[in-house]
Amino acid sequence: MDFALTDEQRMLVHTIRQFVYDELIPLEDDIEATGELAADRARAIFEKSRDLGFYAMNIPEEFGGGGLSAVETMLVEEQFGHCKDILIRRAFGNVYEVLLEGDSAQKERWLLPTVRGERTCSIAITEPEAGSDAAGISTRAVRTDEGWTLNGGKYFVSDGIYSDFFVVSAVTDPDARPRHISLFLVDKSLPGVRLGQDQKMMGLAGSSHVELFFDDVHLEPGTLIGGEGNGLRLALTALGRVRLAQVGARAIGKASRLLGYMADYANQRVQFGKNIGQFQMIQEMLADSAIEINRSRLLLHRAAYALDAGEDYRTWISMVKVDAAETLGRVADRAVQVFGGTGYTHGFPVERMYRDARIYRIFDGTSEIHRTVVAAGVLKGGAKTWDIGA
Ligand SMILES: Cc1cc2nc3c(=O)[nH]c(=O)nc-3n(C[C@H](O)[C@H](O)[C@H](O)COP(=O)(O)OP(=O)(O)OC[C@H]3O[C@@H](n4cnc5c(N)ncnc54)[C@H](O)[C@@H]3O)c2cc1C
Repeated sequence: MDFALTDEQRMLVHTIRQFVYDELIPLEDDIEATGELAADRARAIFEKSRDLGFYAMNIPEEFGGGGLSAVETMLVEEQFGHCKDILIRRAFGNVYEVLLEGDSAQKERWLLPTVRGERTCSIAITEPEAGSDAAGISTRAVRTDEGWTLNGGKYFVSDGIYSDFFVVSAVTDPDARPRHISLFLVDKSLPGVRLGQDQKMMGLAGSSHVELFFDDVHLEPGTLIGGEGNGLRLALTALGRVRLAQVGARAIGKASRLLGYMADYANQRVQFGKNIGQFQMIQEMLADSAIEINRSRLLLHRAAYALDAGEDYRTWISMVKVDAAETLGRVADRAVQVFGGTGYTHGFPVERMYRDARIYRIFDGTSEIHRTVVAAGVLKGGAKTWDIGA
């Protein structure tokens, strides 16, 4: 087992960290105050990040991306995770691996412009009646002589206002369970595609989360991606990779930023004539946070290793999703406690990071759903399933 980074990897982590702290984090106060990231700023961030080679780093070089391995992607995603969701989206892109499942014409039309930052993509799977139960959707694609007709609706589509097209799940054959669902690439500009309201959230200021409606939308045959009936499989595999990076690694980045604030405050806040860092109960919160962050980080990299090694990674991803999201929740809670009343005050990073952190246990599959995936692995293979060398 080798935990050493190469000089290039170390340099990459360092430069991204510097970019995040110098260029992105200073914008957070304004986003929080106005509820948005101004369009000219969004453009400037994108251009700077793209020129530095940070955009779409997760995509193979042959398609214009950074060509990072899964382990390397986690290293950089942890650094991205230090800043707000909307800044990550504009600086580093929403270039989802599911777009690699397309044939060459689909890659030309959807993947390549997305890697270049000319188009933006969102994932539209959740419906009001089907969240955890992704197989229970009612959006329907019916085959026609010219392709498909799409009807239905989605909600909670992150970044939907900014996006140009959507990866949409739809029932293609109701009788083919569990292969009744397929994924489609749906351009926002198509007749019959309509955005609903932006659903306001507890946190994540600056990011949109919209309703999306499809009324007799005509889809060309080349819009179905990954093969008919493969929608649920892709949700666990290609979209699972998104979960590892955008939830697992980013949660660890956020928790690590919070631990930095806790340490600084514990070293400078004086009560009873001492720095509060000298009180054992404060030390316990710092120590538990450090232990949990490092445990989550090790688990994250074990899962990324499974991906790079071509192992079955699905339960590893679920373990990381639960562990990193819950670690972030506990660390954010402790951060507010260490800061006392100041931690509850608007305008300080710990207060808004506490609100932003809460969604990590919910989106991309709740902790309960990912625990059911892990439990199924335990019931099937027992503890040895994850033994080293098994
Ligand atoms: C800010 C935000 C951004 C989002 N972004 C996107 C996006 O970009 N694209 C997208 O498609 N979706 C998105 N979502 C949707 C998100 O993935 C769902 O909210 C999530 O999967 C949970 O679904 P639900 O809200 O319908 O909850 P429900 O499925 O109704 O769950 C309610 C509760 O019941 C529990 N529960 C449900 N089933 C079980 C079970 N079998 N066993 C035990 N407990 C269970 C859940 O864990 C939860 O605690 C987003 C949501 C939010 C809030």
